[in-house]
Amino acid sequence: MRPRLKQNREVTDRDEAPVCSARACRERARWMLRWRNPKLHTPERVKEWAACDDHLDHLREFLTRRRFPCETVKLDD
Ligand SMILES: [Zn+2]
Repeated sequence: MRPRLKQNREVTDRDEAPVCSARACRERARWMLRWRNPKLHTPERVKEWAACDDHLDHLREFLTRRRFPCETVKLDD
């Protein structure tokens, strides 16, 4: 099952408090999932999904089930 992500939620501005990437979630993100699809992306190309505590497992499971290399980074307050 694909997680439903908002459009255009890629985090580009690090000074802006990130909001969870999960659809319809307005929570402040506590985690950043850094991942890539080895079939589509070069090693330099890393995608980032922001995640709140509630959605971290859901988003990470989506990535690990597809065996995408994935790193979880805790965001500072
Ligand atoms: Zn969330």
